[in-house]
Amino acid sequence: TTILEVKQLGKSFGSHTALKNINFSVKQGEIISVLGPSGCGKSTLLQLIAGLQQPDEGEICLRGATVASASRMVAPEKRGINMVFQDYALWPHMTIYDNMAYGLRRQKVPAAAIKEQLAALVALLHLEGLEDRLPPQLSGGQQQRVAIARALATKPDLLLLDEPLSNLDMRLRIEMRSEMAYLFRQLGTTVFHVTHDPDEAFAMADRLMIMRSGAIDQIDRPQICYERP
Ligand code: ADP
Ligand code: ADP
Repeated sequence: TTILEVKQLGKSFGSHTALKNINFSVKQGEIISVLGPSGCGKSTLLQLIAGLQQPDEGEICLRGATVASASRMVAPEKRGINMVFQDYALWPHMTIYDNMAYGLRRQKVPAAAIKEQLAALVALLHLEGLEDRLPPQLSGGQQQRVAIARALATKPDLLLLDEPLSNLDMRLRIEMRSEMAYLFRQLGTTVFHVTHDPDEAFAMADRLMIMRSGAIDQIDRPQICYERP
């Protein structure tokens, strides 16, 4: 099954073309990592998929339905997408449990079912015993695990990761990139992952997308991609 399909997507800011003629699709359970130098359009592409910006050319389809084009804009919360940001973006005044439960409560999932689902995620992400704490009482790595648990709790069709490990120290980055790849494969999560770190992309991706000046330079299995200087 195709989860995400991007067709002839284009986006400009004034006279500056940030993205032009972007075409690709992502299958269920696939992890795509997007690599490229600063300014090549990675964040713009992620924001268009998330629904935080509107394209001016082409379209974005999720599970076959057009969610974005120059004339159509489905709200972010109605796209079946969740996102993990570089800076975790947890609600600081809510406990870890309440942060993770937020999306499920909004969907009116019964409390007992929430508890059961979160227990599984807490175990998978090694967050046992932290449920009653507040985000500022956790380390950066723990906060990012909570953000991942929160994003996975509602079982989104597509998970967007925006430089998810950039705020962590090197040891934790190395540990978490293999941990995340393992977790997403175990859960069958479809992932669109943006990073400027080639090691992170190579460690996680089923397919690598290398962008250059607002266009796709290559998109292929990591083993046959290369990084041009
Ligand atoms: P990356 O994430 O790969 O660093 P971006 O998607 O942030 O690249 O940016 C792509 C290009 O579009 C850059 O030249 C950037 O300056 C420009 N750009 C991004 N967002 C805006 C904006 N809101 N207004 C004007 N220009 C922007
Ligand atoms: P609310 O108080 O907002 O109605 P819920 O009833 O949705 O909260 O909470 C879901 C269930 O999870 C409740 O039974 C609650 O006691 C339980 N719960 C809350 N915090 C924790 C936690 N830190 N660890 C385990 N269970 C928790």
